[in-house]
Amino acid sequence: AGGSMERQAATRFRLQQLHALLKMITERETDIATALKQDLNRSQYDTSLLELTGLENEIKLAIDKLSVWAAPRAVERSILTLSDQVYVRPQPLGVVLIIGAWNYPWALTLGPLVGAIAAGNAAVVKPSELSECSSLLLRALLPRYLDKDLYPVVTGGVSETQELLRQRWDHVFYTGSSSVGRLVMEAAAAHLTPVTLELGGKSPCYIHSDCNIRVVARRITWGKFVNCGQTCIAPDYVLCEPSVQNQLIDCIRLTLLEFYGADPKSSPDYGRIINQRHFNRILSLMEGYVPVIGGQSDASQRYIAPTVLRDVPPQSRLMQEEIFGPVLPLVAVSDIDDAIRFINEREKPLALYVFCTDQKGIEKMLEETTSGGVLVNDVLMHYTLSSLPFGGVGHSGMGSYHGKHSFEQLSHMRSCLVRSLAMESVNLSRYPPQDRRRARRARMAMRAPLIDMSRRTFVWAVSATVIAVVLMVTLVVILLIAAGLNCTCWYWRGIYNYFW
Ligand code: NAD
Repeated sequence: AGGSMERQAATRFRLQQLHALLKMITERETDIATALKQDLNRSQYDTSLLELTGLENEIKLAIDKLSVWAAPRAVERSILTLSDQVYVRPQPLGVVLIIGAWNYPWALTLGPLVGAIAAGNAAVVKPSELSECSSLLLRALLPRYLDKDLYPVVTGGVSETQELLRQRWDHVFYTGSSSVGRLVMEAAAAHLTPVTLELGGKSPCYIHSDCNIRVVARRITWGKFVNCGQTCIAPDYVLCEPSVQNQLIDCIRLTLLEFYGADPKSSPDYGRIINQRHFNRILSLMEGYVPVIGGQSDASQRYIAPTVLRDVPPQSRLMQEEIFGPVLPLVAVSDIDDAIRFINEREKPLALYVFCTDQKGIEKMLEETTSGGVLVNDVLMHYTLSSLPFGGVGHSGMGSYHGKHSFEQLSHMRSCLVRSLAMESVNLSRYPPQDRRRARRARMAMRAPLIDMSRRTFVWAVSATVIAVVLMVTLVVILLIAAGLNCTCWYWRGIYNYFW
């Protein structure tokens, strides 16, 4: 009983912290939007659309489901353990280090924090130094709402992060580039610390010729140019047949006009590049190309217009590294097989986008490629579903989160088998001295299939039995009534005669 009371108190504390985090986001939405305006020229509407609403949903879901997620989970038993308690009991890992990236500085630090709190961990939050205003605001706000000893914020640059990484943690949750991800894993290895790596890379987007290109262009234009192309799951490049390219370019041009007007630089909905280094990096990637759309830039504002480049050679530098900016290369492929070959020749991406209406084509893509997540006929939207584990594979990362997956990623799933000291005779066959008979009996017992004794199965079994009994009783009552009334109807009499 003591254990259960402690568990209830721990759950209450986690819920209270989650409520406080929700309160912070709702009360401070304007301050957060102002910080993001300064960091990325993010429009206030995009702030709630792209960061805060998703975070709120994650927190509310954790609040709703915490007692179910944290409860011990009964699992299948064998004949030998039929009368025992067999379950998985989620346990906090301890102290988690959360290192966030700058492109969505609130979602990428507080998202993992929701999981850490729900799972009962303490956490040190290290936001990115590049999104400075958000980072400083987070440092000021978090201790006012959450327990400041359990969830401190540490700000600083590379050397501070390296210093943090030298320490011993129970889990490191890193979001950022693959190159730094490697360093994080190296540092964690010194203490055998488990890591979650939410990395990036080039997410391909394939467009089949059977699509409504006007709709496809609108979806891609949004996903690529939102946050000025600085989205880890933005479509990095487009693969399509040459005949689709012309149509796509016309439609993207039209959509850009619809979204940002004739001059995206003066649109309140169009962002800016995070800093000068990234601005120069993106411009250097565009060198040597004549853009079919955009191409303009203004260093004083770190502005780069939404840009589209056509017929980009697969071996170009632009196609070797993640663009992470508002530049969309179109690469020509001859058909779906060529596109699959292209994707499979490169590192496993974080996201793969497939625009196709033919079910066989969709199935082929899903079957013959891999990626952290895949989305058919849209972009980015898979991120918004808490039921889907969000994360990479291979070069794009390891581990995943969102919703229940965050809870599980940051919990230790402890195996528990609680046996009784009774019925020792059942165990005798596994003890020495062994002989052929004993060994055969032991082998048979070990080979016995697992039996699903979960609550769900139990409820189903009981419900089915109750329904069967009710049906039987009803039938008997009907027959008795029919007999009692001495029913003359041939139908009833037939049934009556059959049974009696
Ligand atoms: P960044 O430079 O802000 O780095 C992220 C964090 O790593 C920061 O907190 C920073 O202090 C720390 N860091 C940087 N250099 C370091 C070093 N040498 N040693 C130790 N720590 C260091 O962010 P970034 O890496 O420019 O982020 C962009 C990348 O992140 C892109 O590749 C993008 O695709 C990826 N990303 C992935 C996700 C995801 O959810 N998978 C989300 C956002 C961004």
